[in-house]
Amino acid sequence: MNILIENLKKNNLKVTPQRLTIYNYLYHNHIHPSAETIYNNIKEQNPTISLATVYKTLKSLKDSGLVQEINVGEDSFRYDVQIEPHSHIICTKCNSIIDYFPQKDFINRIQDKVSKETEFKLDSHQMYFYGTCKHCSK
Ligand SMILES: [Zn+2]
Ligand SMILES: [Zn+2]
Repeated sequence: MNILIENLKKNNLKVTPQRLTIYNYLYHNHIHPSAETIYNNIKEQNPTISLATVYKTLKSLKDSGLVQEINVGEDSFRYDVQIEPHSHIICTKCNSIIDYFPQKDFINRIQDKVSKETEFKLDSHQMYFYGTCKHCSK
């Protein structure tokens, strides 16, 4: 829990029990949960937290750069505590999302190419792959 408190402080967020609970959940569940999933999993042990609190807390964590919000084309956003640049692979059957870390030079080559061809100065990118996971294709 200490690293979590440190991270919150480093990012100028007041350490509140709600923030710590939600950040802790994300930190230990790398399933890219939606706000609803987080809420459903923590509400039993934290009856005072509402779904609105979860949304508000996620926004503050996102604004301070501790979590990233990802949009995989569903109605709700998913949240990711992994803030290093990486790609996502999404199972279209069970909606599970896993991380994929492409090699840096591969990404750099693509960025260079895109940048040259579009004359954009690029700051970031998002890459999503869609398919059927090992479990679902059995
Ligand atoms: Zn699946
Ligand atoms: Zn991720």
